[in-house]
Amino acid sequence: MNCDDSRIYLLAYLDDELDVAESLRVQKHLSGCGDCRQAQGEHLALRSALRDPALYARPSADFSKRIEAVVRRAAKDEARSKRPSWFEWLRPGPFLWAPAAAALVVVATLGALLVMNRLRSSHQQLIASDVLAGHIRSLQANHLIDVPSSDRHTVKPWFQGRLDFSPPVPDLSELGWTLVGGRLDYVDGRPVAVIVYQRRMHNINVFLWPNHGSTDDAIRQEEAQGYQILHWNGAEMTYWVVSDLNNAELLELARALRGH
Ligand SMILES: [Zn+2]
Repeated sequence: MNCDDSRIYLLAYLDDELDVAESLRVQKHLSGCGDCRQAQGEHLALRSALRDPALYARPSADFSKRIEAVVRRAAKDEARSKRPSWFEWLRPGPFLWAPAAAALVVVATLGALLVMNRLRSSHQQLIASDVLAGHIRSLQANHLIDVPSSDRHTVKPWFQGRLDFSPPVPDLSELGWTLVGGRLDYVDGRPVAVIVYQRRMHNINVFLWPNHGSTDDAIRQEEAQGYQILHWNGAEMTYWVVSDLNNAELLELARALRGH
């Protein structure tokens, strides 16, 4: 385990959410790495500091009004100044601006989230961190698949009644992609389908949901925390593919999926 892995697992480790083997790997890394031990110490210090009852504060009634006004003004300025592409996603309705802008403020404040400069918009970065978190969670919590099956005729109907759309589940076995199943996940505030493929023991999570925006099937690639993230907007579905498999092979998979 290297430092990057150890930082990913650290919070789950501190919450006792890892299985014994993973816990031991983290422990072993911590015992040999001063930097990560320091990070662990900081998390623990932060935790105990946050338990201090003196931190509780009740906001006054007009405080939230002031915040809303500031956020609304910022959203307006932002829209006027550069009209970024995530703005498009926020249609149809001005009511969505405030919470979305507030979410962006929160994310910026946390600061520790992923840095993915090449993804085009803040909204896409939020989704990318959602799908990456979903991918990592599925591996950590042993919750990779809800419906284990290599048969697309089993996987596809399983989503019926669980989602308000029917995800395409192509059989790509002839191209060397083994279908292992599907599961539900939650991304960008909505339930989504995840189709899981494997190649040489690498798990590939394909997140998809209906694309209500414009079609843009140029495949964008990002690397974050050792994982590859691929994304495109098909005519019907929005796709996000995450795996630790190499970039070139994932691009093959993305092209195969795009063709379906
Ligand atoms: Zn380390």
